[in-house]
Amino acid sequence: MPVELLGKSIEELRGYFASLGEAPYRAKQLYRALYAERRFDFAAMTNLPAALRERLSAEARISLPVVARRFLSADGSVRFLMALAADAGRPAQIEAVFMPADGRQTICISTQAGCAVDCHFCLTAQLGLIRNLTAGEIVGQALVALAEHGEAALAPRTNVVLMGQGEPLLNYEPVMAAVRIMLDAEGMAISPRHVTLSTSGIVPGIERLAAETVRPKLAISLNASNDEQRDAVMPINRKYPLAQLLDACQRYPLRTWESLTFEYVLLGGVNDAPEDARRVARLVANLRAKVNLIPWNPGALPYRSPGAARVEEFRRALADKGVPTFVRFSRGQDVFAACGQLALVETSAGALPVLPSH
Ligand code: SF4
Repeated sequence: MPVELLGKSIEELRGYFASLGEAPYRAKQLYRALYAERRFDFAAMTNLPAALRERLSAEARISLPVVARRFLSADGSVRFLMALAADAGRPAQIEAVFMPADGRQTICISTQAGCAVDCHFCLTAQLGLIRNLTAGEIVGQALVALAEHGEAALAPRTNVVLMGQGEPLLNYEPVMAAVRIMLDAEGMAISPRHVTLSTSGIVPGIERLAAETVRPKLAISLNASNDEQRDAVMPINRKYPLAQLLDACQRYPLRTWESLTFEYVLLGGVNDAPEDARRVARLVANLRAKVNLIPWNPGALPYRSPGAARVEEFRRALADKGVPTFVRFSRGQDVFAACGQLALVETSAGALPVLPSH
């Protein structure tokens, strides 16, 4: 069985090359070819000697996720349905989204196939957890999205957001292995300012992330202004209630340039009242944080849009309390490509894409 090299760290590649009896510096050459130059064919790694390239072709492999379907939006974003190899676990399909915008590009990637967290506004939740992704499958989504966009790959600012299917902090090790490759100057060399991990509020995971020296920015999916409300839309809140979650946020060691992001999906008639805004302002009052408001788009789930006036009222109430607040509209609505927890319902008639959550 060929050895899978995608997702391996420089140390792991050194170990692999040592097992082949090759010099350790070959590992760095391959690491750079794979992640910095994004060459996925051993034959194209001309920095390696021909004999080694041949040996690698026979004994190793680089398995990128395979694009099964592309959905192109009028706004330029592309939603990819990607198929993952069965031999990394159960076969699975996941989604990634590429969103270009004025000199920058944002890639939204998945960390699990399906999800066990069960947020009620999220269609991925309905899939349950199919399986965790490997580090290679996680970083591979970003590599594929960049490869698909040729020239766009050269844009100066690439953002990666871990906001696709899955709860990243419940697949901690592979997620962090992928993030280290993205942030490594010898790897994909993306700035830590431009990689964001979004969690539903897994407190032990936040605490673990706080202890990392290399880490992405942190976003928390809040979506409610009190425990009762959050219990109703995000049952994970019963395990990690708001006080515990906000305490972990309080203790989170922000870097000088960094702030926390709270995502708040505005669900009409559920969590969008002016008193909700005032409570949210109180929750985040002592944190260096900003709030992203994401108005709900009606879809397969029984929630309704908050309406433009309500959104503006909510934004203003937070801003008036000094909380930096932004309204974010999901991209690629026409192809169901909003960057959030994407879901796919397989029907007997084929793959039916449905609207994601946040
Ligand atoms: S919103 Fe995120 S954490 Fe919640 S069920 Fe969906 S994918 Fe899982």
